Amino acid sequence: MECAAKGSAGAGPCAPGRPSRRCGLCGAVAYCSPSHQMLHWNDHRDECARLQEQMRMADTLNDFPFTFSEEASLLRSGEQMTRCSLFMSKGLHQRGLWTSECSCGPTLASIGGLGIMNDWNLPSSLCPCTDPKNPISTPLSSWKDYYKWRSLPFHSPVALLLHWPLTIYHCLQLSFARNSSSEVSGKLHIHYLGPEKELLQLAVFGELRALFPGLQLYIEIVGPAVPQCRDGETICISNYAHCSEESCHCRSSERTNAVMLRLRKGYYHDRYTDIVKELIKEMGVPAIFTDFCEEAAFLASRCISSVTGRPLSLPIQINPFRQPMAVEDSALYLPCYSNCFIFGM
Ligand SMILES: [Zn+2]
Ligand SMILES: [Zn+2]
Ligand SMILES: [Zn+2]
Ligand SMILES: [Zn+2]
Repeated sequence: MECAAKGSAGAGPCAPGRPSRRCGLCGAVAYCSPSHQMLHWNDHRDECARLQEQMRMADTLNDFPFTFSEEASLLRSGEQMTRCSLFMSKGLHQRGLWTSECSCGPTLASIGGLGIMNDWNLPSSLCPCTDPKNPISTPLSSWKDYYKWRSLPFHSPVALLLHWPLTIYHCLQLSFARNSSSEVSGKLHIHYLGPEKELLQLAVFGELRALFPGLQLYIEIVGPAVPQCRDGETICISNYAHCSEESCHCRSSERTNAVMLRLRKGYYHDRYTDIVKELIKEMGVPAIFTDFCEEAAFLASRCISSVTGRPLSLPIQINPFRQPMAVEDSALYLPCYSNCFIFGM
């Protein structure tokens, strides 16, 4: 957390220590000293009312059906419990797919093998390691729906990682609805931009097989965080991440309907200069974005609209499949969750 006036014209250096003077109106920003707060008011005045609105969303955004959510929300106070201690209490700390979920996990640069972590470290009753019992009857619109469909109890922590594939699912539902194509079959290519720690959790994308049983998915994962040595690699995910039971058939069964992932290092606009214009402007291919807080989504959407010259076709909205645990160490007091808000064009 930094003083909101840091770097402002004429501000001078900040007082040492964590800034403790929060704006009395919005409470979203903090200052190191009364003088920096006064100096910053001219800049902050315009955003303060908007941030006040966003702060009011805190309870709505933290409303999850999970029993671990209460423990996780203690994270927001920043003292009693950290991600590490939450995972320790569940025997998941630095194990399998959970390895990169807290700050003591490996960095992307230090990892050679992205495909190796494939283990939930949970009994089969707590993770979706085999095919669903039934197909999806009505589109899933909440974690409650998903857990019910997958027969998972609300103390299962898998939503903490499954927000990646479920967010893709939700974005596709939104764009199918806009293009009024109710039946989707055949092949679907997705360009997935700016991956970070999900690169160390790719096995969870196997859940897309259950979510779209009739669809052959190709996902091009493009971003600067892809390690150079993995550039161009294709990963075929033909299974679900497995449970901890040696005897469970999730470890042995052969399956069809794989999800194909292709890794690409670099920035999207560098990599695909020639097709961006064609895809987005001429063919109208839907582009959907996610961000971790409403202010970031607001600023990004304003920037995108200024480039396209059009308002968003998909206004900023809450993602029901956001990660059900607040982001640690965020720069603001605003409620922040991974994949929290969605907007699109
Ligand atoms: Zn300051
Ligand atoms: Zn304010
Ligand atoms: Zn840790
Ligand atoms: Zn299993």
